[in-house]
Amino acid sequence: MFKCHVCGSEEGEPKTVTQMFILEERPLMIEEVPASVCSRCGEAVFDISTVEKIRKMVHGDAKPAKTVMTDVFAYSDSTA
Ligand SMILES: [Zn+2]
Repeated sequence: MFKCHVCGSEEGEPKTVTQMFILEERPLMIEEVPASVCSRCGEAVFDISTVEKIRKMVHGDAKPAKTVMTDVFAYSDSTA
């Protein structure tokens, strides 16, 4: 059963999302990941099996569909 790990809501909708994962300090964007999206706070919650599959894709022979350059900002470094 769905339970949001951020706000504790038990209502989620099945959706596919684009999500950034950090695996072994390597940032990866995965598109069209099946997730349950919390109807209260919008947090995407993934099944263990989904995360496991991504891990296998990354460590296996799967080639990225595309490569994008991404700027990463640290919120805590902001002086604004
Ligand atoms: Zn939530």
